[in-house]
Amino acid sequence: MTPTSTTAVMFENVSRHFGAVRAVDGVDLKIGQGEFFAMLGPSGSGKTTCLRLIAGFEQPTAGHIEIFGETAEGLAPNRRDVNTVFQDYALFPHMTVLQNVAYGLMVRGVPRLEREKCAREALSLVRLEGMDLRRPAQLSGGQRQRVALARALVNRPKVLLLDEPLGALDLKLREEMQDELRRLHKQLGLTFVFVTHDQGEALSMADRVAVFNKGRIVQIGTPEDIYQRPTTRFVADFVGSSNVLTPDEAPRFGGVSRWTSLRPESILIGAVADAMDVRHTAEVIDQQFQGAMRKTRLKINGLEIYAMAPSSQAFDVGQAVTVGWARSALHAMDGEGNDV
Ligand code: ATP
Repeated sequence: MTPTSTTAVMFENVSRHFGAVRAVDGVDLKIGQGEFFAMLGPSGSGKTTCLRLIAGFEQPTAGHIEIFGETAEGLAPNRRDVNTVFQDYALFPHMTVLQNVAYGLMVRGVPRLEREKCAREALSLVRLEGMDLRRPAQLSGGQRQRVALARALVNRPKVLLLDEPLGALDLKLREEMQDELRRLHKQLGLTFVFVTHDQGEALSMADRVAVFNKGRIVQIGTPEDIYQRPTTRFVADFVGSSNVLTPDEAPRFGGVSRWTSLRPESILIGAVADAMDVRHTAEVIDQQFQGAMRKTRLKINGLEIYAMAPSSQAFDVGQAVTVGWARSALHAMDGEGNDV
């Protein structure tokens, strides 16, 4: 959040327990107006419950929530300037696309011509002109997703909540919709709160990411912060994949006696490693061709780590190579929190 911005959503020590289950447990959060904010974490870590607390479908068992400075406790979902796009889209199968999008306006008593005009505008925002009269069954998954988006946007919410909205789409469509969501976010200037368990999606789309584990936020920051400066083993492991060195191992790799993360792509192999300030001789254990890169397992000082080499670097198993990395690539962190 930039210091000048207005706060769209604020959580103060918010908990939502279901009996003994601490779905959300003492969360503090400030989401700025116009931010694209991602909630990232493994299944069951409390992301959806947080979203439902913002939407008003759940009430906190403790703590305080504000939406644009207004106390949210006791405020019904339809009294909040917030709309949700659900993973399963929740479209009405018997209604046309236009009727689906216009539904919320109809409930609010907006006259037919006006609501159809607004619905057509929303459909053009998501590039679905000309589909007005189709029913959901006659649309592809990506098109249904766009209808669900249009249906949320037509109500002109200040905050759009997106609960794993791309989860049901195949990879290609997912990528297309990721671009589309970013475009919409820029164009509309709304606050987007996006729930995902896909770290790539969170890093590539969001202005800031909150990483959840067991009902708590374990780290919050820009995608670069989260990826390059994970504060715990849990974050280093969950966001991207990392070589995690124990306090015993780290000094042998150039670090200090702390839990340390070393991202595979910061490890250089061959002549390019000569310019690095930490250098070792390593044995190639295995290489896996992955298209643009080769995942390369290496043994250094008796320990196995892996590197991402460009695919032009093919090595023989057992080959001795020089490896190196910048000392700044070794990132010390807390050891806690790896017991997912
Ligand atoms: P996913 O990625 O699988 O959707 P999540 O991070 O969104 O997971 P939540 O759906 O918020 O996680 O659930 C957090 C925890 O709270 C889970 O253990 C879940 O089983 C529990 N939980 C959620 N809703 C309820 C409920 N209504 N009653 C009881 N337990 C619940």
